[in-house]
Amino acid sequence: FQRVFHFGKEGTDGDKSMKALLGGKGSNLAEMSRIGLSVPPGFTITTETCQEYNGLGKQLPKGLMEDVMAGVKRIEKQMDMKFGDEGSPLLVSVRSGAAVSMPGMMDTVLNLGLNDKVVEGLAKRASKRFAYDSYRRLLDMFGDVVLGINHNLFEEQLEELKESKGVSTDNELNEDDLKELIAKYKQVYLNCGKEFPEDPNKQLELAIRAVFDSWDSERAKAYREINQIHGLLGTAVTVQSMVFGNLGATSGTGVLFSRNPSTGENKLYGEYLINAQGEDVVAGIRTPSAISTLEREMPQAYKSLLDNVDKLERHYMDMQDIEFTIQDQKLFMLQCRNGKRTGPAAVKIAVDMFKEGLITKDQAIMMVESGHLDQLLHPQFEDQNKYKARVIGKGLPASPGAAVGQVVFSPEDAEAFKAQGGAAILVRADTTPEDVGGMHASEGILTQRGGMTSHAAVVARGWGKTCVCGCLEMKVDDKKKIFTLGGKTFKEGDWISLNGNTGEVIEGKEPLSPPTISGDLSTFMSWVDERRKLKVFTNADTPEDAAEARRNGAEGIGLVRTEHMFFASDDRLKAVRQMIMAENVEKRKVALMKLLPFQRADFEGIFTAMDGHTVTIRLLDPPLHEFLPNGEMKDVCQMMANELGIDVAAVNDKINKLHETNPMLGLRGCRLGIVHPEISEMQARAIFEAALNVKAKGIKPVVDIMVPLVGSVTELENQAKLIRSTAETVFTERGSRVEYKVGTMIEIPRAALLAGEVAKVAEFFSFGTNDLTQMTFGFSRDDVGSFLPTYLANGILVSDPFQVLDRKGVGQLIKTAIENGRATRKDLKCGICGEHGGEPSSIEFVSGAGMDYVSCSPFRVPIARLAAAQAEI
Ligand code: PEP
Ligand code: MG
Repeated sequence: FQRVFHFGKEGTDGDKSMKALLGGKGSNLAEMSRIGLSVPPGFTITTETCQEYNGLGKQLPKGLMEDVMAGVKRIEKQMDMKFGDEGSPLLVSVRSGAAVSMPGMMDTVLNLGLNDKVVEGLAKRASKRFAYDSYRRLLDMFGDVVLGINHNLFEEQLEELKESKGVSTDNELNEDDLKELIAKYKQVYLNCGKEFPEDPNKQLELAIRAVFDSWDSERAKAYREINQIHGLLGTAVTVQSMVFGNLGATSGTGVLFSRNPSTGENKLYGEYLINAQGEDVVAGIRTPSAISTLEREMPQAYKSLLDNVDKLERHYMDMQDIEFTIQDQKLFMLQCRNGKRTGPAAVKIAVDMFKEGLITKDQAIMMVESGHLDQLLHPQFEDQNKYKARVIGKGLPASPGAAVGQVVFSPEDAEAFKAQGGAAILVRADTTPEDVGGMHASEGILTQRGGMTSHAAVVARGWGKTCVCGCLEMKVDDKKKIFTLGGKTFKEGDWISLNGNTGEVIEGKEPLSPPTISGDLSTFMSWVDERRKLKVFTNADTPEDAAEARRNGAEGIGLVRTEHMFFASDDRLKAVRQMIMAENVEKRKVALMKLLPFQRADFEGIFTAMDGHTVTIRLLDPPLHEFLPNGEMKDVCQMMANELGIDVAAVNDKINKLHETNPMLGLRGCRLGIVHPEISEMQARAIFEAALNVKAKGIKPVVDIMVPLVGSVTELENQAKLIRSTAETVFTERGSRVEYKVGTMIEIPRAALLAGEVAKVAEFFSFGTNDLTQMTFGFSRDDVGSFLPTYLANGILVSDPFQVLDRKGVGQLIKTAIENGRATRKDLKCGICGEHGGEPSSIEFVSGAGMDYVSCSPFRVPIARLAAAQAEI
């Protein structure tokens, strides 16, 4: 099999469909070569080879270096230059690139092929200054990336030299200064007990190994963990001819997006540096110029950039993130990929591109990810005009949204704040890939240095996290844990607010308000609704939640957890505890009658909020001791005795009786209603009385009553009979009726297996996949934390089955249950109300399995609508 795939004028092996094998970068370079853009020639070593390398205990597979050297020969031929040759030296870059982009996480080495001799050859062909500058950059990068010499050791030498020469920027150093710097860098190697390999082939081999190794670096692993990137083979390695942006004033390098990645505006967006190499732009060391000024500085290159960008957008039918270099006025395209964007930008770009005729509606729907919608559903500042007097400074609006939190100065502190339930704003001079954990844990990020494509900006945008960067007037001292801005000094723990849309930094804690669905988003959501077949319901226990879900587009309620209503006030909880402590049925009924008016009022509120839409109400489910107070047994008994006016010993006795070794498999679900029929009776009565009350007011209640945790049809029969007879009693008392259905939750594997029987009684199925997952795996849903991380780290599971539905096992039970259920009852309505109902990949699965609806929490409703539409495409 082929390990090395070439691209360039001599022929290109790969294409854009080969992301998994060639990585995003490799497959896109191949594609760009194919469509005739000017891409420096090179080749990509596959991700499979990285896997092989790791499998061999970090050894390059036999024959790889021969293939690599053949690839180098091919580049030499196309460039008419030679690797390691003094006369006409070819230099190459070695870059990482996995199938999923992991910005800044893995390694890159530039300018390979230089040594003490070759550098003189390069000096003759180009200029001395350029040659020495390239060489000292190689020494720095190679030392850092390949040999693990701390980059700061090189940086110190550079700073010292600049100071001694009295200059402030790198560009002011002359050829002799740089030659001196090379000697100093070599001394750094020696001080660390390392040696720079003069043999270019050796350099290449070591750089390839280093890139493979970077796949498993701590920061790369942390990034994959946070972003839930699983199941990739490894990184590909692209070896490519260097082109130079640092040949002087007619050269430069830059990065750009074909549209604005923050707002989606259809205008080139990016920055570049004259006389610089790629990493200078991203590293945020020199502040780059906006791309618009390139038109004046190099009109020819700018024009060809516009042409290329247009070609790329039309070809990929998506917004592009591009790296380019201009060598002596000639433009080279170094990289392109679909650009990461914020939620607002994703929606605007999708809507605009459809309107521009670039893509179809289906493509537009596929272009927006659930994470993007999530961002749009985040809060914004209540009133942007109110805080103007408290604005202490302004940076670049690098990633939009509103963030409010307490200042911290290190990623570790951000994580600690988050762990304690706090909200942190991470304030840094700039961020590096090592900081990702803490960046993720913060509400927002504020940096002093760096442009719109600096590390902080790129990473924050990827997550939809608010970020303001390049706040130049700010001075950060992370040793003392203070920063100054706007004439004020702030310390750790002080509250600040960030506006990522404007770049404003605000003193204090600004109030936030909920988001609204309007403009492009409402256009987009209307396309989504046209396309989907699956209905989207919500899990809601209060009229407020129900109303919010309606605003988000919910078409009904798939689960009312009635027990949540019991916790809503002290009076209610007291009545519940009285019911639990009752020594006989009569006393229990008295307590239940106290609960009845509360439940009835809640149901009335919910029916009203959902007027004309299904409300699926579940009878009491959890084990009763969940309603007891927490604390020491002795205190609990005393408290309950005081509260209910009964004897401590009696309380103690009762609680002991209630104790269960394994409560999740104990007296809960329908078992409660079977052992204590008066509980189900009270709940059924509350439901029917509420339905009749709202009906009398002209509201249309659509009532589905659902029995939890059924394993046998006989359990369901028992409860259904009770519900139906209660209904008749209430209807007779009131002289009025409502339609209703009685159904069941499918949460126990046995019910799924015997669904054909269960459907004789059940008029609908609602899959409670939280419990169904728990019981199918035999994993306690409350205790997986002790082993799941190990399972995920060792690949025993690829994802948390409580988050992403297990298609193989739980999925099989679902399919069987739907099929058998519908064999008994053709029009059996099926839905899901476990947490998976709001998770896109699970929604895709249940849609394929033939469900009629999903039900999820109110704020996830738009995400479920999108996933349901995407499942159809
Ligand atoms: C379920 O088990 O999936 C479910 C929705 O019920 P609960 O989470 O309340 O147990
Ligand atoms: Mg359940």
